[in-house]
Amino acid sequence: MNRKTRNKSLIYLPLLVAIVILLTVAGKKSSSEVIRISGDSNLFGIAFGLSLFNDVIATSEDRSKEEFCKDVNDKFLKFRWHNVICKPDRWKVFSYSSRGNPLFYQEFGFDDPDNKGPVNLLLCGVHGDEPPAVYLCFRMVRDILFDSPETLKNFKVIIAPIVNPDGFFANTRHNANGVDPNRNLPTKDWEDSARKVWANYNNDPRKFPGETSGSEEESKFQTYLINKYKPDKIISVHAPLGFLDFDGPGDQKYYDLVRVEHRAKYLGLNIEANSKRLLKLTDFRFFPGSLGNYAGNERKIPTYTAELPNSDASKAYYFWDSLRFAFIKALNFEIYDEREKHPLHNAQAVSERVKDKGLELAFYFRNSLEKVKMETAKADAGPDITRN
Ligand SMILES: [Zn+2]
Repeated sequence: MNRKTRNKSLIYLPLLVAIVILLTVAGKKSSSEVIRISGDSNLFGIAFGLSLFNDVIATSEDRSKEEFCKDVNDKFLKFRWHNVICKPDRWKVFSYSSRGNPLFYQEFGFDDPDNKGPVNLLLCGVHGDEPPAVYLCFRMVRDILFDSPETLKNFKVIIAPIVNPDGFFANTRHNANGVDPNRNLPTKDWEDSARKVWANYNNDPRKFPGETSGSEEESKFQTYLINKYKPDKIISVHAPLGFLDFDGPGDQKYYDLVRVEHRAKYLGLNIEANSKRLLKLTDFRFFPGSLGNYAGNERKIPTYTAELPNSDASKAYYFWDSLRFAFIKALNFEIYDEREKHPLHNAQAVSERVKDKGLELAFYFRNSLEKVKMETAKADAGPDITRN
């Protein structure tokens, strides 16, 4: 696999240990050494700070955002996508792929205090050989920043436009390590089933789940965004199956739905209805290591996988024109109502129903406990909603 180790904090560990030993030894020397010790202490502080914050440090093999965007824009030109652009300063880097390409993303709508809308995560280019998906993400950025910025008043969105850049440049589904980033997420069934399920698909090298779960940077990137932002919903754009798959509250369940299950499913129908017949809502299964499993099944985050009808880059404009309305509407859509937003309201009643069905309560509320504490003055003294 020949992967680079990417946990930056580990780099500082030996340095930290060395400094601690140095300080201890120095401390046992005479008091005339005190000045030097305080000098070392600053160094200690710097090293400790760096190790704590786990900053992204580019190695010499990693490429700058500028270099990266230049290649992305060259590729856009080859596809004749003249109305989208990769602008380096628009993106934050999470880390780097094994080929040194930045894995980047950005928050949109978060700096407007009046924007109380739902938090969305939009992922594109998880598979590198599905270029129209990448176009849709960049076109969405253009739309909300320039073409119709008023739409961004009612929702927030985190966009990761090229989750698998190595695959994008090589035109492969998998990443440069030969691992499918939509089969490698650390789901609970991964150890037991990932290889077996892969074997059922004739060990298709395009869908190799990896040696261990969550091993790939592209996987860590996705789980980071999910766990950091705890989005109200996720839309991941793929091709070429031409359907919309829903995973999350109420999936595979057809009666006795609680409200959020109704709403989450309703949004699926709504996207289908507005998709100009491009996306037919289906009950496609999820896989060990897939996003639908990790986010939708395990964390009960409504997750919509939009499979464009084909991977033809020349169809990208058409897909955008057909799906823009459906997507903007979906980003605006509130799955959770005002009462559910308030975690102390009716939590008991909902939790009873949820517990019966073996689901986790926490993700039924759009607010994480952390957010709750900020928004509700009494939250600290109130009941712990995760235990109700
Ligand atoms: Zn795909």
